[in-house]
Formats: sequence, structure tokens, C-alpha cells
Amino acid sequence: MQSKRCDIHYLVTRIINPTLNWIIVTMRSSQHVLKGRINTQYGPANLRWRDTTIWDSFSIELEVWRDDLWRYEKKESVDPELILEPLFSILSRMEAKLPDNEKKQRILSELYEMVLRIGRYLEAEEYVKKELSEVKSRAAYIKEMDENLKNTIRESQRKLSREAPIVYSSLNNSVSVPKISSRQSSIETRGIPALIIIKNSRIRRKGRLWVSNDGWVGIAIDGSSLKGIVKRSKVRICKDSNTIKVEIDKITDKDMERWNHYKNTYLAPEKLIPVNFDKNCSKKQKTKKKGIFPIIGKILGGVTSIFVGILAVLLLLLLLLSTISYIWGFVSPITLILTAPNSQDMNWVMGNPSRVYFYDIDSSCYTADKIVIDSSLNYLSKETGVKFIELPHPLALLIGGISYSCTPPKTEFAAGEAESGYGGISIFVISWNKIRIPHNFMTQEVVLHETLHAMSFGHSNDPSNIMYPTITGVSTLNSQLKNYIHTWYVKNPLAYLTIVPRNLALLVFILFILISKAS
Ligand SMILES: [Zn+2]
Repeated sequence: MQSKRCDIHYLVTRIINPTLNWIIVTMRSSQHVLKGRINTQYGPANLRWRDTTIWDSFSIELEVWRDDLWRYEKKESVDPELILEPLFSILSRMEAKLPDNEKKQRILSELYEMVLRIGRYLEAEEYVKKELSEVKSRAAYIKEMDENLKNTIRESQRKLSREAPIVYSSLNNSVSVPKISSRQSSIETRGIPALIIIKNSRIRRKGRLWVSNDGWVGIAIDGSSLKGIVKRSKVRICKDSNTIKVEIDKITDKDMERWNHYKNTYLAPEKLIPVNFDKNCSKKQKTKKKGIFPIIGKILGGVTSIFVGILAVLLLLLLLLSTISYIWGFVSPITLILTAPNSQDMNWVMGNPSRVYFYDIDSSCYTADKIVIDSSLNYLSKETGVKFIELPHPLALLIGGISYSCTPPKTEFAAGEAESGYGGISIFVISWNKIRIPHNFMTQEVVLHETLHAMSFGHSNDPSNIMYPTITGVSTLNSQLKNYIHTWYVKNPLAYLTIVPRNLALLVFILFILISKAS
């Protein structure tokens, strides 16, 4: 499009600001919000509820767009598309993502009026009309993408093995990447499953491989931030019976940076790209079996006294219990997803339905905060049957219980925040649940909302539900939620498994190693 003479000062102060300032003020909620978002970039093994408001985030985007216009101030002329294209992008996403209500309609129609005024000023009315007519269809597309993303997450949680087939060819010693439409799945699920071996760090773990046709490959280790885009010549790709092995000396910071910048453009093959295997791969490594069983054998074999024997049996039992509890932690989300009531339109995510939750409250909370937390948990316990047992801080946090803090959430504009995570390797992981609610938002509503996040509940679209993302004044659980918790957290015999805190597995494992070293 042709550049137009344009006085940015006039455009911003006379045409944009009179509308936009009002809109930004309206969208900056005086009502603070609990809005959460699941951060799934670490896969199902880590989730974080970030409580921010969607209105606020769009108001920030609009503000950034406007402030960004000043960089054209010194220019003689500006292409109207440069000014307006980012705005159309924001508008399409607002159409797609904001909840349908009167407020949204009012704000959007004001914004459309503003866009028309900008178009007139820039003499780009044709372009503006055309783009405006496309906003709705772009919004529909974004909605569809969001829906697809949701399905992908659900699907990948349900069944990791239901992947597109990978075609081996023994003829030319290569494997082909199946063609997958970019709208069907996220980049993370599109790589070829492979065993990633990082020689310098002795890492041998499952991961994924992407091959680009111009000499670069992507490597990602499952459930880890070790992801990089590296030169094809720096890796050896081998086929060992039916496993594809990728060997690399190390993944550098530069490789990881490349991953962050280019993964979406680089690793989204739309065509079949053959992976050519290297020939001079190192021989099959002799894996030293350093599992639990040899350690157990060592202990039981070298039992020198009854005391050590009893200790070993007790530890075995604990290990068994905590391992079952841990595995259950991974299986239970599936039961949550499968059994969740549909009518609620609520997100049910990975978690650990349990009869008993340990909790602690850290020293940033005042007595008044403690009273609200305790009485809210009391209410939850009375209505559902789930027990909450208080431990001195940081004991509950250490064993994977819930830890309450009265410091402000990390996210701006949030009234409360719940963060749950899993970390570690193999079956020996640590898990944690941290809830942050500042003193001025310490109410039963916020405590219950965040606690239910820590108990694996997502958001509901129903404003009368306690899990509605915004503070509405509803501070009780509806009967459907109560029944659900009672059935799946209290009556469910499997929910007893998670009474053994998951982090005990880690403690027991350390004890095992210490004892086996001593004996
Ligand atoms: Zn929330």
C-alpha cells in the first residue's frame, strides 16, 4: 500500500486517544480477577495457574500498539497498513477471546468507529473496510485454533501413543515425516519420537526430532527445557532396531535460543522430509542396570542384623506406597477428565484427587489471614468430606501439600494465584502447590478458588460457579461441585493412594541409597 503523509502527533492525540483512553480505563478492571491459564508448555508434568484478566491483557496490548506509533513520528510518510495491521490482529483476538457480553460489544463497536476514523485520516478507507469485514472470520479461525489446542492437550494427556504413523524405509535407509496439517496439532507433538543421547551430560532420554530440509534439525527432550535447533552435521541420527537414536555432544545456549526463535517456522514440515541416517553410529551402549532392584537385593542380601532387616522391609513398603501414589498422580487426571460433568463447561486437568491434603501457611500471613484460610478450608471440608491437616511451614510444601502465602501474586492485576508443579526425573519427583493471596484479597471466595486449583480444578464459564475466573462474590460451592468432590475425592477408594505424600518417594529413595552405601 502507498505511504501517506501523516502527522503521528495529530493521529494519536486527536483521533486515537479520545476513544482509546476511555476504553483502556474501562478494560482495566477495578474488579480484580482470578483468571487463570494453564501453562502447558512443559507438557502434562507441570502446570501453573496464572491468574490474570483477559480484559487487562488486551488493554495492555492496545496501549502498547498506540505507544509504538510514536516511532513513526519523524517519518515523512507512513504506510497505513503498518499502523493498522497490528490493530486488526488485536481486534480479531478480542472478538475471539473476550466473553460475549454487552461490555465487549460496546468496546468493540467504539474501536471499530475509531478504526474508521483512522482510515479516513490516512485516506485508506478501502483497506480499512476490507480488513474490518474480515475481522469476524479471523476471529472464527482463532476460536477454532483455540478449540483445537484444547483438544490436543486433552488428547496428548489421554493417549501419547495415538500418533501419526512414521514410515520407515529400509531401501534408502531413511524415515519419512508424515504430512500433518499445521492446524491439527501443535509443534510439540509433531516431531519423530526418538531416544536423545547427550554425550557430555550422560543424558539418555526420550524426546523428539524434527528435520528440516536445509541442514538443521530440532531436538527436544520430553518434559524438559532441553530443546534446541542444531546443525545436522553436529548430530548423528541412527536407527537401532525400531528406535531412532539421536546423538549429540551437547545442546548449547545458542541452540536453545534458536529453538525459541524459530521452532514454529522451522519445525513445521508440511511435506514429507526424509531423515537420512548416519552410518557410523556408536555401538549399542552397555547400560549399567542401576535401578532400584539391585539396591534392594544388595540390602536384603547383605542383611547383618534384624534391625537393618526390619528397616529395609519398612522402607520397601513405603517405597511401594509412595510409588503407587506417584503413578496414581499421573493416572488420576485421566479419571478426572473422563468423569468430569460435561454440563459445567469446566476445565479438569491433571491432578491428585486425595482424601487428605496437608497444608501450611507461611509467615507472610497475619492472624486475620490465617483465620480466613482455616475457616474456608473448614467449610470445604464440611461440605465435601475432604480433610485438611495443617503442618508447620514449610513441611506441607516439602511433602507436596498446599502452601499458602500472603505475598502478592507474581502476575499483575491478580487477586490470587495457584501454582502447581512437578519436577525431577524418573519416578522420583518433587511436586509442590503454592498459593499466593495478598492480605487485601484474603476472602473465602479467593481461598476456595485457589485451593480448588491446587486440587486440580480448572475454570468454569458459569458466573455462579466458584471457579469462574473473575471475583463475583460467590463464596460457596454449588451442589454439583460438592457431589463431584465427594464422589471422586472422598468415596473413591483410589483417592486414598495419594494420602501418602508424593515427595516421600524421593525421601525413601535417598534413604535407600544411603543405606545401600553404608552396608
Ligand atoms: Zn483461577
